[in-house]
Amino acid sequence: MDWEWHKGKTLQFLTIPEWSFMGVETAFSTRNDGVSRDAYSSLNLAFHVADNSEKVLENRKIFLAELGLSIKKCVASEQVHGTNVVSVSEEDLGRGMTDLASALPRCDGMVTRSDIGLMAFFADCAPLFFYNPEIDMIGLAHAGWRGTAQNIVSQVMDRIRSAGGSAEDTYAAIGPCIGSCCYEVGEDVAQVFKDNIHKGVIPTSEGKYRLDLVKANLELLLGEGISSVKVSLANLCTFCERELFYSYRREGITGRMAGFITKRKGVV
Ligand SMILES: [Zn+2]
Repeated sequence: MDWEWHKGKTLQFLTIPEWSFMGVETAFSTRNDGVSRDAYSSLNLAFHVADNSEKVLENRKIFLAELGLSIKKCVASEQVHGTNVVSVSEEDLGRGMTDLASALPRCDGMVTRSDIGLMAFFADCAPLFFYNPEIDMIGLAHAGWRGTAQNIVSQVMDRIRSAGGSAEDTYAAIGPCIGSCCYEVGEDVAQVFKDNIHKGVIPTSEGKYRLDLVKANLELLLGEGISSVKVSLANLCTFCERELFYSYRREGITGRMAGFITKRKGVV
């Protein structure tokens, strides 16, 4: 189950065709073919960076139009590098889509069984996608080093299990994020990883480490009981791929790509 590039009418995005066959549309955007300028050039999809809000809204409409979706059918949250995961319902439709103030407050993961598009924003952090066909539940989470070390994967899986889904029947995917090739951290961050999840820390030289967000989250997914054949890895580094992606670590002030998931019934 591989991520593949889909070339649409106005822009390209990554998607997992085999999830699409199961009735779930996934997408991860690039930084290209939008209307934002300068540091945010050009398809910045997040309000929480200091880009022009009208341009962000226009970019969201461009991106969702490519997917055949209305902005009113989607939900976005206020991401705070935590592990709070919320269950999203029809009454949340449109929250966080035209401004930041209406976003679901303080949560880095969303799940839903409704026909709602879930959208989250990334520039190096790991996008985690979930689908459980037994209970027809989808999920999307934002996992930087903090969310990974605090195991947001287990919080999403708790939501799936409490709704009656099993790990064995759950599909998961990790989209583009900063790779271990480019993610050097100090002893302090490495120690948090070592103390909490014991995974994804690679020592380099004295006092320096590299973090592997993909490996860490993959191990957490497998540890929950998800089968490795049901996990799709994009294996693309946001820092290395400067033509395709924003990277917070590379650029500091920059835009955000979107991770997106919806059931096909949500597509108009
Ligand atoms: Zn890299």
